[in-house]
Amino acid sequence: MIPMVDLTAQYPVIREEIERELLKVLDGAQFILGPNVQSFEQEAAAYLGVKHAVACASGTDALHLALRAAGIGPGDEVITSAFTFIATAEAIRYVGATPVFVDIEPDTMNLDPELVRQAITERTRVIMPVHLFGQPADIKTLQRLACENDLLLIEDCAQSFGATMDDIQTGGFGIAGCHSFFPSKNLGCYGDGGMVSTNSDAIAEELRVYRNHGSRERYYHHVIGYNSRLDEMQAVILRAKLKHIDTFNAGRRRAAHAYSKALGDLPGVVVPSERPGMQHVYHQYTLLSERRDDILAALREKQIGCAVYYPVPLHQQDVFRDDCKGLTLPVTEDISRRCMSLPMFPELTDEQIDEVTKIVKGVF
Ligand SMILES: *Cc1c(COP(=O)(O)O)cnc(C)c1O
Repeated sequence: MIPMVDLTAQYPVIREEIERELLKVLDGAQFILGPNVQSFEQEAAAYLGVKHAVACASGTDALHLALRAAGIGPGDEVITSAFTFIATAEAIRYVGATPVFVDIEPDTMNLDPELVRQAITERTRVIMPVHLFGQPADIKTLQRLACENDLLLIEDCAQSFGATMDDIQTGGFGIAGCHSFFPSKNLGCYGDGGMVSTNSDAIAEELRVYRNHGSRERYYHHVIGYNSRLDEMQAVILRAKLKHIDTFNAGRRRAAHAYSKALGDLPGVVVPSERPGMQHVYHQYTLLSERRDDILAALREKQIGCAVYYPVPLHQQDVFRDDCKGLTLPVTEDISRRCMSLPMFPELTDEQIDEVTKIVKGVF
């Protein structure tokens, strides 16, 4: 039995610091937006190479608050991928804007910049790429496109903490990078958490106001804001884990490369590719095969974790069906039919990888 994600495997590495610091939080009894949150924001900004990091309550909130802080609202169009988690598009709707779904590149499964260019209208305000499964989108081309067309670039980094393009961290290319600390993410806490990274003083200031009920000074409110804050206990977890994130991501890459070596020659199986200059951090290890359902069945029979991310692309979801009538995204649709993900966490052992790949090979 091998789970999709095994968080217990990494706990021993961080246990001592987490238990010590959590007890201090309990003694100090300051629980929301305290000194650990402040330190984590500084440490995360330094790690990402950005000027500001503003923590909030979830990755979904990070996307929502970033759009709100950037002044996006009704009538505005936001170009994004349909091959992502629903939260990317939900956030666009929260501010009253319209998601415009564009097809992806077959190798990276990320936004196709040429199709993004063709989708730009006079109402377009934002390009919102997702660095899906831990692989950066073609972010430099998208950055140029945004710049040439006077658009904002807001990155969904929920799956890409620590991924780089030419040694620059994802989350440092756009006006805002939106991070999720959901427990199973590359950098995860033990509850919900999120963060926006930005080099803009103005956006950072807006984010701090919006996350805390629209107030700069306590009990004085000038905009309608939200309750979207990180708490001290989660900040303790994140500070402890941030110190190890490069080791954790290296463990994911090692496991991914071992999977690809074992499975790369199977007939009709497409293993993940890495583009030059991009550091893929494998939030998921996702392969493509016409025989996906047979592989899933074989793994499930042996109680090996496996999943389909994502079986129904967003333009075909009930909630967006009316807005996307007649829209076809051939690459997205083809990939959602053939994709499946294997167990992935930094501490996967060689034996576990062997066990998984033997079962997959047994299908062929
Ligand atoms: C997880 C995820 C989110 C949302 O993050 P939460 O912290 O769960 O709200 C947004 N976008 C993508 C691509 C994600 O994978």
